[in-house]
Amino acid sequence: MREYGFNFDTTYTDLPKHFFSKHKPEPVNKPDLVIINNQLAASMGLDFSDLTEKEKAELFAGNYLPEGCTPYSQAYAGHQFGHFTVLGDGRAYNWGEHITPAGSRLDIQFKGSGRTPYSRGGDGKAVLGPMLREYIISEALYHLGVPTTRSLAVVTTGEQVRRETMLPGAILTRIASSHIRVGTFEFASNFKDKQSVEKLMNYTIQRHYPELRESQNKALDLIKAVMERQANLIVSWMKIGFIHGVMNTDNMTLSGETIDYGPCAFLDEYKPNTVFSSIDRRGRYSFDNQPIIAQWNIARLAETLLPFVNKDPHKAIKLGEQTISEFPDLCKQKWLAMMRSKLGLFDGRPEDEKIISDLLDWMQKNNLNYINTFRNLTRQDQPIGRIYEQKSFIDWWLRWQSRLKKESKSYKSSISLMSDTNPVVIPRNHIVEEVLKEAHRGNFKPLRKLLIVLEKPYDDLELNRDYQLPPNPNERIYETYCGT
Ligand code: AMP
Ligand code: MG
Repeated sequence: MREYGFNFDTTYTDLPKHFFSKHKPEPVNKPDLVIINNQLAASMGLDFSDLTEKEKAELFAGNYLPEGCTPYSQAYAGHQFGHFTVLGDGRAYNWGEHITPAGSRLDIQFKGSGRTPYSRGGDGKAVLGPMLREYIISEALYHLGVPTTRSLAVVTTGEQVRRETMLPGAILTRIASSHIRVGTFEFASNFKDKQSVEKLMNYTIQRHYPELRESQNKALDLIKAVMERQANLIVSWMKIGFIHGVMNTDNMTLSGETIDYGPCAFLDEYKPNTVFSSIDRRGRYSFDNQPIIAQWNIARLAETLLPFVNKDPHKAIKLGEQTISEFPDLCKQKWLAMMRSKLGLFDGRPEDEKIISDLLDWMQKNNLNYINTFRNLTRQDQPIGRIYEQKSFIDWWLRWQSRLKKESKSYKSSISLMSDTNPVVIPRNHIVEEVLKEAHRGNFKPLRKLLIVLEKPYDDLELNRDYQLPPNPNERIYETYCGT
């Protein structure tokens, strides 16, 4: 019998030894379970129902390692705010790869479980607020239909951790289809040999892009495939007004999943140059800069793969540049398709782009809420409210209505497409902050309620009415912190 359904089959440690470092987490004195994701556990074939709360806490604190678990941390490097640096899992380690009953291979990882060989000056710890923040936002993105790592559990360690003040230590267990980052390739290319990059490339293809195994030019095709997934990812962020906040190359996965939720946040009013991260002083990672930064990051990945694109370095660079230069248009086309569906448009017509940009301009000019405005349009009649009585809006609305009449599908289908594309609830920044404040006081009820609400983000339910309201001026969040 496998313990609780854990089914480890770890392959990452078959890579050359310099890609990882095997070691065990530090035991924890007084672990307490804050939250466990039973739905996710069930989908992974895991069942903890025989365990007491205390036993669950011990398990998710790393005091007890299930059979087959072979803990290791990963080496990586990365460009942080444009500057190259050595990084690695300084406060995380993988339990290993678990195979689900459906056959998916998933990394199970601890975050905040003590120092590792990659910790540099850090303490290897994490604190409760940021770990719950990652839990909330990653689960919200999952239910909103955005590719993402997920969260299985959070425990407190009973220890106080020094940050600006002393804060409760915590460990997050997260699940990812892998933790291979652009920065993992940068690590191999800058510090190791050509064979290491090749092995990592083949490993990545085997794990995430098996259709490329027989490709004539694996490196170039991998770049193209990553471009496709990253374009989908960024556009799905833009659909829901999400700002990642720290799109460093070490925070970009080869799988195309959102990873490393630090100072991320959601647009309230539609202001495309919004930045929330307290460390992003220049707006590098603002809402509308995300496609540009994704391209920049993919260029860093491509640099590591050039020796395999073509033996002739000049030809390799030319091919790489040509390929990456297609990224802005790829993103633009996907963005247009996404924005069309936000407006109930199935067919593509030349006038659509102007209809979309005129609406966005009007929203920006009037400081309107990104989520609520699209939701207010998701109905049969003209939206109600003073702002919608403006002549500029009525003109736009009539133009949009006549565009909808040209659709090959029914009006009803358009409304239903809009309902599936425009969320009713997102984890609004001010609500998340309030929930975290309560959690710090030991009150986890608001956290549990928020997580239930976030499970059905596209349904207009009695349960989620309070969560639909935009922040009052005094509730508005202007900055979020890494809080590491
Ligand atoms: P992040 O901001 O979480 O993406 O982390 C950036 C880098 O800093 C990664 O290499 C982390 O492992 C490392 N790091 C973050 N917090 C700590 C910590 N408390 N102790 C050691 N390393 C850390
Ligand atoms: Mg990171």
